[in-house]
Amino acid sequence: MFICRNKITIPSEGDRNKIISENHCSAVGGHKGITRTYNRVKRRYHCNGIKADQTLIQNCRPCQLKQLVHIKTTDGTNRYTRFSDKVSMDIMGPLPTTQLNNIYILTIQDLLTKYSIAIPLQKADAIHVADAFTNELVCVFGAPKALLTD
Ligand SMILES: [Zn+2]
Repeated sequence: MFICRNKITIPSEGDRNKIISENHCSAVGGHKGITRTYNRVKRRYHCNGIKADQTLIQNCRPCQLKQLVHIKTTDGTNRYTRFSDKVSMDIMGPLPTTQLNNIYILTIQDLLTKYSIAIPLQKADAIHVADAFTNELVCVFGAPKALLTD
């Protein structure tokens, strides 16, 4: 839509997110990092200070889900950690009963990205918790390597 061959366009403020999204989330954008995405944008558009507007890429869900973080260990070897390797789990409640008879909230947080899931529960027993954990975390993101609970 905004791509013009051999022509630099000055887009309006309102179109910036659309342009960033087209150059990041589309098949050609390929979910590259902030610098690479803005280098793509700069080739076609004249947008002063567009790089300061990073929220769209920082909040991109597919990027967060596949995020790899480089950890330098003391013995000089490199280790990689990824989304849902290490998660923490907690139960809140009992809270006022909802229309669906839920009184607890099971919260699961990925410790790398801080991505959080909140699951309503009728009971806070092992069967309900294990069921929610399996359906909402393991079946969606894969099994974590470490699980932290109190
Ligand atoms: Zn992305």
